[in-house]
Amino acid sequence: MKTGTPVPTACIAAMLLFALVGCSEDTTSDDVTDTGGSDAAADADSGSNVGPSFDGQPTSEELFSNSVTSVVLEVDYEDGAAPYMSTGPVAGSDPWELSQRNLDRLFEDNGAVVTVPGALSDMENIGDTGRDSHTVQQILDLADQHRDMSSGGHTATYYIIWLDGHFADGDGAVDNVLGVSLGDTGVIAMFKPVIESLGAIEATRAFGEQAVLIHEFGHAAGLVNRGVPLTSEHHDAEHGAHCINRNCVMHYTNEGAAELATFVARVVTAGDVVLFGDECLDDVDALAE
Ligand SMILES: [Zn+2]
Ligand SMILES: [Zn+2]
Repeated sequence: MKTGTPVPTACIAAMLLFALVGCSEDTTSDDVTDTGGSDAAADADSGSNVGPSFDGQPTSEELFSNSVTSVVLEVDYEDGAAPYMSTGPVAGSDPWELSQRNLDRLFEDNGAVVTVPGALSDMENIGDTGRDSHTVQQILDLADQHRDMSSGGHTATYYIIWLDGHFADGDGAVDNVLGVSLGDTGVIAMFKPVIESLGAIEATRAFGEQAVLIHEFGHAAGLVNRGVPLTSEHHDAEHGAHCINRNCVMHYTNEGAAELATFVARVVTAGDVVLFGDECLDDVDALAE
């Protein structure tokens, strides 16, 4: 399945608990680059305006061009670590709509259809991993074991696994990493115990969880300046693959609860919020043909 040996070349970023509008306090980048490939296959439809097909996980150029007509999120979860499916009695909406809205916007110009899971029954409970923390290799091994969909043809798939444990780097478990995107593998891991610590309010945790996913998907898709070329000077290189726009989900700020509350209020009241700033959107739009 996987080819090559994944070697993290970027540091693991830690999105800290609060500050959802960005990812706060990562010391470096929550984007773990590796050289792992992925498997080929998938459908090969022949629409009139469809670009060339691709093999394996698409490059950013392929992803945002007309090569990709379908983007699918495959979601699995460890027992006890399922994603939130409700924002609670007050907000009362499906938190996944936030990811749907944001991914729809990313692919607006190339017209790809984005599919996110609509119910827990669309996801697989993989049982108990028997671990409290997970290294990059262990996460990739879980993906090898449980990932059902591959990318190729005109379909880009991403494998997102919710874990009931923490991320582990070379020094062991890391307390504050909410999620990681593993290089160009299309694999994203979400760390539920850290997400659960986002706040006491269910809506905060549920929308916060989706914001983490949106941020990690942004990295997997090549933001900022890690596959998607810049169209303006908004790369916060000092902090990894992040954006200098404080109002962009790809920003990583060091602010706390106040920013989180603002974020949640926006989501709850507006109902449909695009969390990417114009600079990041301009970058992906420029790749559409
Ligand atoms: Zn990040
Ligand atoms: Zn941005």
